[in-house]
Amino acid sequence: MDFFPAFMNLQSRECVVIGGGSVALRKARLLASAGANIVIIAPEICEELKHLEQVKTLHQRPFQDSDLQDATLVIAATNDRALNEHVSKLAQLKNLPVNVVDNPALSSFITPSIIDRSPIVVAISSGGNAPVLARSLRARLESLIPPAYGQLAASMGKLRIKLKKKIPTDRDRRLFWEQIVNGPIARQFLTGNVKTATASLRKAIDSADPDKSAIGNVALVGAGPGNPDLLTFRALRLMQSADVVLYDRLVSAEIVDLCRRDADRIYVGKQREDHAVPQLRINQLLIELAQQGKSVVRLKGGDPFIFGRGGEEIEDLAKAGISFEVVPGITAASGCATYSGIPLTHRDHAQACIFVTGHLKDGSVDLDWNQLACPNQTIVVYMGLMGLPVICRELMNHGLAPDTPAALIEQGTTERQQVIAGKLDNLVDLVEAKPVKAPTLLIIGGVVSLYEKLNWF
Ligand code: SAH
Repeated sequence: MDFFPAFMNLQSRECVVIGGGSVALRKARLLASAGANIVIIAPEICEELKHLEQVKTLHQRPFQDSDLQDATLVIAATNDRALNEHVSKLAQLKNLPVNVVDNPALSSFITPSIIDRSPIVVAISSGGNAPVLARSLRARLESLIPPAYGQLAASMGKLRIKLKKKIPTDRDRRLFWEQIVNGPIARQFLTGNVKTATASLRKAIDSADPDKSAIGNVALVGAGPGNPDLLTFRALRLMQSADVVLYDRLVSAEIVDLCRRDADRIYVGKQREDHAVPQLRINQLLIELAQQGKSVVRLKGGDPFIFGRGGEEIEDLAKAGISFEVVPGITAASGCATYSGIPLTHRDHAQACIFVTGHLKDGSVDLDWNQLACPNQTIVVYMGLMGLPVICRELMNHGLAPDTPAALIEQGTTERQQVIAGKLDNLVDLVEAKPVKAPTLLIIGGVVSLYEKLNWF
């Protein structure tokens, strides 16, 4: 982050704008909407600036160093480079925040593009790199955030103290507000029915039950194959309201970053046999955290019910009487296949698709080779990298043609995705010739021949 985002209280503070033209006017209007006392300094000052209500002082003359004496914030909006530079230096010597319009190098702060739904304000900045991009993003967000958000926020603000008296603990109040924001009362506000909505909100607060202590729960959430765009809405919603998140190695840092900022994050990663936290302990931890009344999100790579031990984790929860839900995720087979242009089924190549684990046990892979070595079938092997030589050899020994197409996909769906495509009799050599990074998925069958043509990512 090149600039630290913060919102500043400028109510009745002296803000000095040097410049008297249209750029200065734009900045002065912005300061006026934040309630600042504005001082304008310039030899020539346009009429609009002279009549702006928040402008308390007009100095129609050149800038003097003493003009910054009582300033809280300074904006240089002149077309005189040397003067802008001088103001910037002077302000920074005095530790005053200074903005030189369109010159991030001379500025200690920059003004973002904003969406004003006061008291909700969304600010977007490109750090001075691409203001046009920031403005276009703003335009898109404008249409997503209805004006009534401001009214909802203002009503919540007014009723905060009332709720605090009713529900003393921070966490229970947060849960109450989450229910309001995601429920019918917020929708009433958004349809513009402010009076009824405010009345419903008051009623909800009056009937809030402080003794009903929160009941914990666990959501087993599939985080997909790595690309954050492939999360489900349900996953994101739960991640953003969790008290605690347990995640493992397959869940990318970008995805963990989308969890509620104040949620505790516990890494329970697994690297083949070496578990950071043993499975039994994970199951136990989930139960303990839920019993403390927490909303627990157990984030798992891909889909929790596909080679993810999701079943085992919730079996223990069910036994302990903890309420839980499971959120499906895009499994690696689906993610990797689509992102490498390999359809898992295809009328000309495969009428069936089988998912297996290629995990090595005592140096061999325990699979039913006769069932796998069938024509017109796609085989997807999870955890198959170590066993790759055994898998290719056994499939050929059991009747699959040596020229059956096969591909290894590394870190599928992410920007680091790599596909090594070959055939059963040469894939091992191709893979050995390259540095390969986990996780990897193996796809075998006629459909892999489409990769060259359909590889779009
Ligand atoms: N529950 C997960 C699978 C867990 S097993 C799911 O549904 O996807 C872990 C294996 O999944 C890895 O060894 C690898 O074979 C595969 N895998 C997961 N994410 C992957 C990715 N982004 N690219 C390639 N393989 C992946």
